[in-house]
Amino acid sequence: MGLEGKTALVTGASRGIGRAIAITLAAQGAAVIVNYNGSKEAADEVVSEIQAAGGTAVSYGCSVADPEAVESMMKDIFSQYKRLDILVNNAGITRDNLILKMKEEDFDAVLNTNLKGVFHTCRFAARQMLKQKAGCIVNISSISGVMGNAGQTNYAASKAGVIGFTKSLARELASREIRVNAVAPGFIETEMTDKLPSAAVEAGKSQIPFGRFGKAEEVAKAVCFLASEDASYITGQVLHVDGGMGM
Ligand code: NAP
Repeated sequence: MGLEGKTALVTGASRGIGRAIAITLAAQGAAVIVNYNGSKEAADEVVSEIQAAGGTAVSYGCSVADPEAVESMMKDIFSQYKRLDILVNNAGITRDNLILKMKEEDFDAVLNTNLKGVFHTCRFAARQMLKQKAGCIVNISSISGVMGNAGQTNYAASKAGVIGFTKSLARELASREIRVNAVAPGFIETEMTDKLPSAAVEAGKSQIPFGRFGKAEEVAKAVCFLASEDASYITGQVLHVDGGMGM
């Protein structure tokens, strides 16, 4: 699964699943850009951990919801590294509420980060990858985008949108063998699920055939596989990493 000589951008890599993805890609030899929004210290710690293990990484602060900031980040990456081999769109937020209480600003914030953020990075990455005639993109969706989840109309819409986006872009880029896939995690132990009330945690576990939440590293390994040449004939797919929840 070697990724030596590859450059990878992981959005939202300061914490949780993104952090695990950055560390796993770097362990396979990729030079990793650890994107974050507000958590500079945490992102720098991810970089230090990668470097301590002999890998290469830098941190880069930029909100994926801000199109101009994304444009600057992508241009900086292309000018420094001259290429981008792997893009992992992982940055995501939740603003859960039932529809009767859902504020428009919470709907927009989730769509702007989780879905439009993917559009912002992919526009630039696709152009560069077409120029290189190589590259791959992995977008992090969610089981909520596949099955729906009460209290998450905004989040589920954004994650279902990521799946449609992924399949469409996969078709657009397939003639150059640039692969675009999605990973749909189930419940994973991170700060995002730490916020859930204990009743929701128990209800969630009862729906998972494995009877437990997953670990960020278990998602990272699936992403690393899709980003590697081992997945060279796989595009437009949604890989569930959910302990059987969505089967
Ligand atoms: P998390 O622990 O809350 O971490 C979220 C990450 O996204 C942080 O690094 C955060 O950066 C970053 N981020 C948020 N808004 C951003 C923005 N506008 N621009 C750039 N980065 C931004 O979340 P997680 O659980 O690891 O989730 C990672 C991804 O997996 C998300 O897309 C999430 O929807 C998806 N997912 C998670 C689960 C789960 O059970 N945990 C299940 C299915 C899917 P800062 O630290 O700088 O704020």
